[in-house]
Amino acid sequence: MNRLVVMKFGGTSVEDPAAIRRTAQIVAGRVAKGSQPVVVVSAMAKVTDLLISAANTAARGDRASALAITERLRIRHKDTATALANGSKAAQPDPMLVATHAWMESDFDSLDEILRGLAAVGELTPRIGDMVVSYGERISSRMIAEAFAHYGLKAAHVDARSCIVTDAQHGKAIPQDALIEQRLRQHVMPHIAEGRVPVMGGFIGATEQGVTTTLGRGGSDFTAALVGGGIDAGAIEIWTDVNGIMTADPRVCPEALRVKTISFEEAAELAYFGAKVLHPATILPAVKKNIPVFVLNSKNPENGGTRITALAAHCRSPFKSIAVKKRLTIMDVVASRMLMSHGYLRAIFEVFDKHKCPVDMVSTSEVSVSLSLDSNEKLPAIAADLSKLADVKYEGRKALVCMVGENIRGQNGIAARVFQAIRHVNLRMISQGASEINMSFMIEEDDAEEAVRCLHAEFFSDPDPEIFDRDPGRPTA
Ligand code: ADP
Ligand code: ASP
Ligand code: MG
Repeated sequence: MNRLVVMKFGGTSVEDPAAIRRTAQIVAGRVAKGSQPVVVVSAMAKVTDLLISAANTAARGDRASALAITERLRIRHKDTATALANGSKAAQPDPMLVATHAWMESDFDSLDEILRGLAAVGELTPRIGDMVVSYGERISSRMIAEAFAHYGLKAAHVDARSCIVTDAQHGKAIPQDALIEQRLRQHVMPHIAEGRVPVMGGFIGATEQGVTTTLGRGGSDFTAALVGGGIDAGAIEIWTDVNGIMTADPRVCPEALRVKTISFEEAAELAYFGAKVLHPATILPAVKKNIPVFVLNSKNPENGGTRITALAAHCRSPFKSIAVKKRLTIMDVVASRMLMSHGYLRAIFEVFDKHKCPVDMVSTSEVSVSLSLDSNEKLPAIAADLSKLADVKYEGRKALVCMVGENIRGQNGIAARVFQAIRHVNLRMISQGASEINMSFMIEEDDAEEAVRCLHAEFFSDPDPEIFDRDPGRPTA
């Protein structure tokens, strides 16, 4: 039996000493049952945002404010380490804690050095940005590995940058699977063979030359899947702050239900279309090796969570979940002179390709094409290039609502129910993906949350008990 399990704990699962203690207990519980875990951790909650803001503040020349941010982070991490070592304040300084504080001081000193340099130069390159944000996971993972020792776990810190080899696309680097597999064999497997729990930071990697990179926001999930795929784990567990994948973001829709099982394909669509609970790239390495992925709640570990499996179980409801992606722009490209001519779409997409800009949704007529894009700083340059071919206009503050479920295949009347439920909302673009498991439409960003609640009421008021579950503690009627 394969006892290897990758356990990834997100920012809220390591946000403070109490959360880290819960995490240690969950891992210890797995070890006691005979599993061999590899632990992947995020930076403590909000740390990545604060590091990004420190880097931007320094690059604007405001050195004092940038250093004030890292000073607060230094104190937060040192206090957390103290609380984890002591439980309560010990009379004698613990030598392990002294050592922990010493490397934290030295790491924060180097970080401050980078920020001072940034303030002097006044320019933030993607490469330096990755360097700055990497401290979040570098420090959290080392601190957590050391803290595990206080809870009777034999743990070993592994610098993720020694294993997660990527290309040099800073901010969204592409992992190199074969090299990762080789490095994991070298740096992770020996610890497991010796009965230690390897603990590594998610989200960060390095090029073959050793330059620090990151995998994109939310990328610790991706690390977990890369490690799971690389070591042929028997399971990948994504531990977070909700009971699993829910029928909608519970922050938007408090009535959201837990989805007990969902297919890889459904989960991938949801993640891609904005369900923050999983990073969009997470599923692929797991699919390739058919490794089951579980999404679980570190604040409620008894709950069964969500199991992501190769095939979808039969479900009475057409949809499993509703995702929303915000901060989108619709671009309309109209070229009457292209009527009946070929090559028009190719010419348009060459422009997006040139600017390395992904397109979420496309709808076309004979002479016009509407596209939905992430709102980003490249849009004016893209529009300028496209205007050589056609008339272009674009408008931001749009949201894409995406309803996902294998059971929409071949069911009649679903679109009518969707559009009836949100009849008061102005629809901009509609699409049903070729995979036939999603139905998506663009609306104004301000209408998104209301639309999700209306759709949820329409499709999840009589849930299939085989697939959906209400949170324990919440009334079932
Ligand atoms: P972590 O720090 O553990 O990676 P994230 O904040 O990245 O956690 O993801 C968990 C959050 O995702 C939840 O708190 C929830 O608000 C949000 N979320 C969005 N869509 C969904 C969904 N369909 N199911 C569950 N959570 C969702
Ligand atoms: N800390 C990173 C982020 O906030 C990665 C992660 O948490 O998954 O984006
Ligand atoms: Mg996340």
